[in-house]
Amino acid sequence: MVYRSVSSFYKDKFGCKVYKISLDAGCTCPTRDGTKGTGGCIFCSESGSGDFAAARSLPIEEQIEQAKQKVLAKIGSNKSAGKFIAYFQNFTNTYGNIQRLEALWLKAAQAENIVGVAIATRPDCLEEPVLQAIARLCKKTFVSVELGLQTTNEKSIKYIRRNYETSVYDESVFKLHQISKEIHVVTHIIFGLPGETEEDMLNTVRHSIKAGTDGIKIALLHVLKNTDLAEDYLTHKFECLSMDQYFALLAEALSIIPQNIVIHRLTGDGAKKLLIAPLWTADKKHVHNELEKYLLKNVKPML
Ligand code: SF4
Repeated sequence: MVYRSVSSFYKDKFGCKVYKISLDAGCTCPTRDGTKGTGGCIFCSESGSGDFAAARSLPIEEQIEQAKQKVLAKIGSNKSAGKFIAYFQNFTNTYGNIQRLEALWLKAAQAENIVGVAIATRPDCLEEPVLQAIARLCKKTFVSVELGLQTTNEKSIKYIRRNYETSVYDESVFKLHQISKEIHVVTHIIFGLPGETEEDMLNTVRHSIKAGTDGIKIALLHVLKNTDLAEDYLTHKFECLSMDQYFALLAEALSIIPQNIVIHRLTGDGAKKLLIAPLWTADKKHVHNELEKYLLKNVKPML
C-alpha cells in the first residue's frame, strides 16, 4: 500500500477489522440555524453530510443495532464478526446541549462490539465544556474527532460559506491534542472546489499536516440535488473534475502526506439518488479499483 489506510490503522489498533457505522445525534449547524447563516455549506445535502445514517428519530441504541445489521448484511457475516466505531456523522455533533450529546456518545461507547466513537464537527464548535466532555470520553474509549476544514483558500472559504477562520481550525487541532494524547484528529478536505488550482488543494493538505492532523479524509466535490452548489453547476458556473484529473491530484497529495498520517478516505461518499455530478463517481467499485491501480503506479510514498 502506498499510504497508511484507515483499515490497516484499525487492524493495528484493534487487532481486527473495524467498520464505521453512521449515526444521527439530531444536531444542526451554526450555518443552518441562523447563528452564522441559514443555508448551510453550499455543497451540503439536506441530511447534513450524512446520507447513510440511520433515522434521527430512533433512539441511539436502535440506530446502532440497525446500522450494524446493515453492515453485516452487506459483508455477509454474522453478529460476532466485526467490531464497530460509532460515527456521529450528520451535521455538527458538538453543537447543542452538551450534556445530551455526551450521554449519547457514552451510550454508543458502551454498546456491544463498539470499540470507539468518531465525532464529526466544525472547529468553531469546540468550546471548553465540549472539550471537557470529549476528554472524559477519551478515558473510556478510542475517540476520533473529524474536523471539516475543506479548504484553506480564502475565496473558496467564502464561496462554500464555511464561516470560520482557518486559524480556528489550527487552534482546535492543538486543543484536542492537549486534552488527550490518544485522540485521533481527522481533517476533511475537498478537492475540486470551483476555481481552485492544484496548488490551492495541495496547500490545504500541507496546512492540515502542519497543524498536526492525525488523519486526512479527501473527498471529491460532489454536486448534490437541492443544494445551492447544484444551481451554480446547472448554470455552468464551474465544471467538475474528471476521473483522470482527480486521480492525478490524489497522487500528488499522497506524495506529500507522511506515512504516519492515516488516510481515511480518498473518494466521495455522496448518495447515488442525490448525485448530479460527477457521474463517473457513481460506480464506486470501479472507481475504487481503478484508483488503487493508478496510485500503485504513480505514488512514491513519503517516508
Ligand atoms: S458544517 Fe458540515 S454538516 Fe453543517 S452545513 Fe457545513 S458541511 Fe453540512
